[in-house]
Amino acid sequence: MSQTSTGLPTREEIQAEYKWRVEDIYANEELWQVDFKKIKDDLPKIAEYKGSLSQSADKLAACLKLRDEINIICGKLFAYARLHRDENSADAKYQALVGKMEGLLAEAGAATAYIEPEILAMAEDTLSAFRNKPSLADYNFYFDNLARQKEHVLSPAEEEILSRSVEVTQASETIFNMLAHADIKFPELTGEDGKTITLSEGRYRSLIMSSDRRVRKDAFSGLFGTYNDFRNTFAATLAGNVKKSIFYAQIRKYNSTLESALSEGNIPLAVYTNLIDTVTNNLAPLHRYVALKKKALQLDSIHMYDLYTPLAKEVTFNIAYTEGQKLVRDALAPLGSEYADILNKGLTSGWIDVYENKGKQTGAYSWGVYSVHPFVLLNYNDRLEDVSTLAHEMGHAIHSHYSQANQPFSKSQYTIFTAEVASTTNEILLNDYLLKNTTDKQKKLYLINQYLEMVRATVYRQTMFAEFEKDIYDKAESGETLTADLLDGMWHELNVKYYGVDITVDKEIDIEWARIPHFYWNFYVYQYVTGYAAATTLADKMLQEGVGAQQRYIGFLKSGGSDYPINILKNAGVDMSTPQPVELTLNKFSYMLDELEKLTTKS
Ligand SMILES: [Zn+2]
Repeated sequence: MSQTSTGLPTREEIQAEYKWRVEDIYANEELWQVDFKKIKDDLPKIAEYKGSLSQSADKLAACLKLRDEINIICGKLFAYARLHRDENSADAKYQALVGKMEGLLAEAGAATAYIEPEILAMAEDTLSAFRNKPSLADYNFYFDNLARQKEHVLSPAEEEILSRSVEVTQASETIFNMLAHADIKFPELTGEDGKTITLSEGRYRSLIMSSDRRVRKDAFSGLFGTYNDFRNTFAATLAGNVKKSIFYAQIRKYNSTLESALSEGNIPLAVYTNLIDTVTNNLAPLHRYVALKKKALQLDSIHMYDLYTPLAKEVTFNIAYTEGQKLVRDALAPLGSEYADILNKGLTSGWIDVYENKGKQTGAYSWGVYSVHPFVLLNYNDRLEDVSTLAHEMGHAIHSHYSQANQPFSKSQYTIFTAEVASTTNEILLNDYLLKNTTDKQKKLYLINQYLEMVRATVYRQTMFAEFEKDIYDKAESGETLTADLLDGMWHELNVKYYGVDITVDKEIDIEWARIPHFYWNFYVYQYVTGYAAATTLADKMLQEGVGAQQRYIGFLKSGGSDYPINILKNAGVDMSTPQPVELTLNKFSYMLDELEKLTTKS
């Protein structure tokens, strides 16, 4: 079943077996209202514990358990409202429920805000005596994690000022978003079909891949030329955001902004610096890829606007949903029979909302609902990337399933650092499976091209971003002013370094830093690389080593948020504080380049 965007079915027209069962959360809205009222009643109860947490272990345990219960129920209430709303955003009823829930979540946040400062203020020997009590056993990791932050928490009055300052200090990011996503206007250009189109960020992504060089060059100059017109404003918003992060890091007594950002997940600094060093030492395969592209596209000189051009012709796969499910099942067989059973359950028991319908939320996501089951939103449309998305989102969903089935609520939430490992491992296994089982040369070329572009965009490009981020913070922390000229120069040099001597690093690219929203997320992007490298390593181990590696992997999925991400991954068999995972990933990239060369040279 596939639809054009004009002829979308209504939600009622979709068969029940392709729709998720939100009724598994609440069978009807009356039951939702009952729980909503229950939380309203519970909030004054949790406020009553204020000031008494150090009295006894039982009191502390009762308070934390009540908070868990509130969070679990709020999770169900919110999911029910949001999932229904995403089925059809035009439905005002669920819009209203989402609004009500946002209000309730804010109330719950305010009612429980005293808990952590109060625990942190407790005398150390009191807390360590409490911690030995069985009633608090589920909270051992929570206490450890909290204690780590103790030296970075300020007095209540200072904390109050800091929390009120956020509204003011986020102005740089708000202005960036307004300029980049609302006010900026891109020029018109002539498309592949000779028709005039107005350039946009969204359109740029497909235009830059055009096989018509004139089109991609025009899109490139049009996009970056426009950003360049606002270069000083963009430099000011980025510099303002950097100053904001430095301000909070210094006030919280961290040695650097990077250290402050990594401390959230207790990630060692070496993970970040090793990543940049390892990629720096392994740029040769990327340079080779650039040279190969130049040759394959028959160019005298390769420019920045040629980088995204695919080396393989677009291949239509046309994979019906039943067939897509089968591919995912087969590709994920290395994860073992228990995983296969859960996958099967997910595919057949109302976890997934498969097809597009009028008003449905676009894209895809997985949403774990504690004590119910995960939900997966898809917009499946028979393309290969839809099968990949199914594998990816089921990776998240099964990770949630395992975490929630094996951990108490207090340890069930996994971090971003590990989340994308579970989903990407599935994508990598699918890609490997398809490559092994595809004999058609064009399809094979297409798959290899997809793989190479994935590694270029995820590993090389995001590490370049991570290096840029580190460099601008180093400069700002040592007192330099981040001007447009300085940022342009740094970006240019990084492009020369990463893409090598074969490419002409066009002047226009220098302003590219201005369009990257992630630079406002404060040392976030490196996790795309670490996640991908960890997933590559774990998938490789399962394929090479079999059962032992597979059981360690399932152990990783079961561990949820019961330990720091680096330890969880180490137990699974991948040590992110060493260069090996990134090296292995780039060796595989190199191997795939060989495969590509073999396929393109012999005819
Ligand atoms: Zn994901």
